[in-house]
Amino acid sequence: MKYQSSRGKYGAVSAAQAITMGISPDGGLFVPGRIPSINIETLKQMESWTYQQRAAHVMQLFLEEFSPEEIEACVNGAYNQQKFDHAQIAPLIELEPGLNIQELWHGPTCAFKDMALQVLPRLLTTSANKIGENSEIIILVATSGDTGKAALEGFKDVPGTRIIVFFPQDGVSEVQKMQMITQEGNNVHVAGVLGNFDDAQNGVKNIFTSDQIIEQLQRQGMKMSSANSINWGRLLPQIVYYISAYVDLCQRGSIKLGETINIVVPTGNFGNILAAYYARRIGIPINRLICAANSNNVLTDFIRTGVYDRNRSFEKTISPSMDILISSNLERLLYELTGHDSQQVSQWMDELKDSGRYEVDETTHSQVQEIFWSDYATDAETLESITAVWNKYHYLLDTHTAVALNVYEKYQQQTGDNSCTVIASTASPFKFGSSVAQAILSPELIKGKNEFELLEALSVETAMSIPEAIKNIDKRKVRHHTVASAAEMEEVVLSFLNIE
Ligand SMILES: *Cc1c(COP(=O)(O)O)cnc(C)c1O
Repeated sequence: MKYQSSRGKYGAVSAAQAITMGISPDGGLFVPGRIPSINIETLKQMESWTYQQRAAHVMQLFLEEFSPEEIEACVNGAYNQQKFDHAQIAPLIELEPGLNIQELWHGPTCAFKDMALQVLPRLLTTSANKIGENSEIIILVATSGDTGKAALEGFKDVPGTRIIVFFPQDGVSEVQKMQMITQEGNNVHVAGVLGNFDDAQNGVKNIFTSDQIIEQLQRQGMKMSSANSINWGRLLPQIVYYISAYVDLCQRGSIKLGETINIVVPTGNFGNILAAYYARRIGIPINRLICAANSNNVLTDFIRTGVYDRNRSFEKTISPSMDILISSNLERLLYELTGHDSQQVSQWMDELKDSGRYEVDETTHSQVQEIFWSDYATDAETLESITAVWNKYHYLLDTHTAVALNVYEKYQQQTGDNSCTVIASTASPFKFGSSVAQAILSPELIKGKNEFELLEALSVETAMSIPEAIKNIDKRKVRHHTVASAAEMEEVVLSFLNIE
């Protein structure tokens, strides 16, 4: 199976090439040329399989040139009890019949990004070997907070790679910032950017497509690649857990094999929900994909009107990993829905770049509406959902997952659809502990406490322990001090790599 660029100006490549390159040189994203399928009988068999076996099966379908041994090595090296603190890797919790939470944050950095970023470095080094790529691979990452840390953990000390992470200096939580600037490893670099996530992401995209930098690196025997969800190797491992959730529901008798479910995803860059879309295309019986946004509701407007318009003010919310106005992975969806019309997709993306806006045609929009539904939650609504779920089920949601739950309630009210539903839970509540504390603790308990002290208070109140990865994070040694403007990002990269 070949992978194609969504912009159509670069030839089809193998899976190994697509993963090694990260993004296509024409600025497009790599998309599988054809989508494999899984039938009901296979889903039935999967009920008795471990998470690792399910992952290996699904990934093999998209990575034809990988041997089963190679895929097993990638999967078993990533999903094991040293890295994940839950034997099921992505456990499904039933809050009440029909309402399920899939916890995707049992990996080393307490956010769902680990599900992909523990396996991506292994896919990448295997891919590079396969295509005879000898260059040192430089991973460039722009992060809204969680990807950066997860990528640093995934790539630290991986031979033949170096990783450089840019995060918005004032756009991440204190815990997230401390997680990144205290990162250990001998191939890691971290810098704060004076700007928001979109500035950092645009900066990284410009560096990726700069012929001058590509050449400068080449002379040093280096090549850039991406760990953002523009890399197909990031998306593929995410398809697995939606399939696994469906199989779990069948196995425990919550649904009958073949019955349709809904999936709710708290969305920022459209990566995680796109993985659910691919699960649906593969043949998992999914009715609606519910796209939950925060006040940066550019996707909600797009799904409702067919107009994507990023010309609006950027809101800082208590679900910062979703504070995004340019959702990169939407490009892949448009490519799929237009039947791989790269010319049309290029035109929309050019319009987005030039004017910040594009409008899709009626046929494409009606397809979007058939599959997706969207609404958004304000910060106040998000906190209300955390409180309500804690009071009703004694289950603690993080702010992102609370956005999803809030939007799901709106969906049920407006549509009356009570099908069995899975909510993707994207972070541990402790990762965004100070906001969660506001929803759960009394004002007296919160007063005068900093973000780290609030974690302790939250732990005492809920009798839940703070995950190892975050415990005492404020007392660790800061190792990375660089802060730069968006315009200086190129220079920063070259100086990290000791290139004149
Ligand atoms: C990254 C992230 C999201 C958004 O995921 P996308 O793939 O960018 O849509 C949501 N919640 C958390 C906690 C995240 O880290």
